[in-house]
Amino acid sequence: MAPQFNVFHSNLHLNGRCPVCNTMYDLQKFKIIAEHDQNVLTYIQCTSCGSAVLSMMTAGQQGLQAVGLVTDLSVDEVVAFERSEAVTSDDVLGLHALLEKDSNIIPPFTFSSTSKG
Ligand SMILES: [Zn+2]
Repeated sequence: MAPQFNVFHSNLHLNGRCPVCNTMYDLQKFKIIAEHDQNVLTYIQCTSCGSAVLSMMTAGQQGLQAVGLVTDLSVDEVVAFERSEAVTSDDVLGLHALLEKDSNIIPPFTFSSTSKG
């Protein structure tokens, strides 16, 4: 049986700095998005550059492990994707077959020559 843990009472230490701009995080903005069994999905957004880190923390036999990734998703987008179905290999093959039938089904990508800010 996996050990019980509470993210607020563990020996977990967050780096505390944005990996993009090195600004100290405002830990008041730290959010727990979802909890399933011994897994906790967390989110924190940098107040300086707007990038965010999404982390999956897992409690197992070896202790607490965290895997994080930098994202530009908002917390609402993360919640929406977290609740959506995973893409399967059948989905990919279906899209491939669809594109073979009609390659114009998806409009070509367009790139804006203007940039914001
Ligand atoms: Zn930053």
